[in-house]
Amino acid sequence: MLDDPSCNLRDRLNDAGLLPGRGDFAGEGRLAVRDPATGEPVAQVAVSDAAGAQAAVDAAEAAFAGWAGMLPQDRAAILHRWHALILGAKEDLARIMVAEQGKPVSEARGEIGYAASFVQFYAEEALRPNIEGVTSHLPDAEMELWREPVGVAALVTPWNFPSAMITRKAAAALGAGCTVVIHPSAETPLSALALAELARRAGFPEGVVNTVIGDAATIVGEWTADTRVRALSFTGSTEVGRLLYRQSADTVKRLVLELGGHAPFIVFKGADMERAVAEAVKAKFATSGQDCLGANRFYVQRPVYDEFCARFTEAVEKLTLGPGLQDPDIGPLIHDRAIAKQIAHIDDAVARGARVLTGGGVAEELGPLFFHPTLLADVPDAAAIMREETFGPVAPLSPFDEEDEVIARANATEYGLVAYVHSLDPRRIYRMTRALQYGMVAVNRTKVTGAPIPFGGMKQSGIGREGARQGLEAFTEIKYVCRDWA
Ligand code: NAD
Repeated sequence: MLDDPSCNLRDRLNDAGLLPGRGDFAGEGRLAVRDPATGEPVAQVAVSDAAGAQAAVDAAEAAFAGWAGMLPQDRAAILHRWHALILGAKEDLARIMVAEQGKPVSEARGEIGYAASFVQFYAEEALRPNIEGVTSHLPDAEMELWREPVGVAALVTPWNFPSAMITRKAAAALGAGCTVVIHPSAETPLSALALAELARRAGFPEGVVNTVIGDAATIVGEWTADTRVRALSFTGSTEVGRLLYRQSADTVKRLVLELGGHAPFIVFKGADMERAVAEAVKAKFATSGQDCLGANRFYVQRPVYDEFCARFTEAVEKLTLGPGLQDPDIGPLIHDRAIAKQIAHIDDAVARGARVLTGGGVAEELGPLFFHPTLLADVPDAAAIMREETFGPVAPLSPFDEEDEVIARANATEYGLVAYVHSLDPRRIYRMTRALQYGMVAVNRTKVTGAPIPFGGMKQSGIGREGARQGLEAFTEIKYVCRDWA
């Protein structure tokens, strides 16, 4: 096992046959993958360059007609095999993820189950009818809408969910009949390589799934410029999303952008306080705070503000911090830029009058990337943390008085991914759900995700939806057919 000191990660992955150690079309260059818990290298991965990125598109383009023309039942059977192989390798995949991403191992196991669920969902969704009739408005004409795969799709994914972000895109695209070129994050290529190896074993024909590791700007730049790449699906920051949106304009690509978030977590007086606190812990500290759905601002109605602050502090002080394989509540952050951001957000808030309720700094005894879970009270709206994604275990709290006031404050952001509301008043819940400008609204709970729901944001949190039927349709074009038999 990975935690057996006599067996290092590389040997273990090689033994499991999960780590060929090279992306498709890799050249001589090497990328070192580091364990964020220790800073130690865990593997070297051979990487591709611009020529490799082009070769991947050549392969995907050559494989497209065969894959798109295959019976949906046959495509579905391969997806089902991939699903079974992912679940069969769950423990290995979870440990690969911990080694390169750092998250607690039970969260990693949960992510593998979540990742597999998209493959199963789209194996089934691929079988749904792809032709729709239209009531004719022209005499003698017969009309249909055909849904056809768009072509080669480029999939670009982040490090915080290194497996699920790949399958959420790839299974939908493959189920629709597209071939794919995948670029995972430089921080987490091993999870991507392991999924690619399992895809090979599942029997996807040559060229259907291509995983290319290398410098993001070079590889993805080749793909955005290539007219043969018809769709781009990106998950990552709004900043890079904007760049890829611009880069895709010249070739008018179909786009899905799943970008950043800045979720408000709103607690009204009369809410179930115990539940609100328990859900607040999940909404902020899951994935060590490195989650696009992470609550980034807590607004609590004044009569229950002090009580909520006290109970939230008590709950947060019980959270454990440590290396992922020890299965703590919170693992290391991904890199030193993430640590610098936590410190900058805390310093800025404190300079503007905020109080540190708990935490506030690096857990030096564990290593430079471990950050104590932190709560800040009385944080003014002008503070950077109330506007920018923190992407770490720091939570700002602020009191509010009126419903209209909190709606205006919650909506005063360019982000619009998810909002959390805690109240037991049904009319208030209805009004809040209507008023919040977010792609997803969670009421009295935190977990909202799953393969059958359309995941995505409003405003600058993105374009399009992933998951559900909509996730597959994003990789299709509508062809309108009008036939005259007369
Ligand atoms: P990032 O935008 O820095 O990088 C995302 C990926 O984009 C990288 O892995 C890299 O492969 C690629 N990339 C980076 N620079 C590029 C460039 N110049 N040209 C082309 N490609 C480039 O984001 P990150 O730090 O990896 O992930 C965190 C961000 O992702 C957060 O903003 C988070 O909110 C967002 N996120 C969103 C969702 C969602 O579903 N909405 C899910 C997870 C993460």
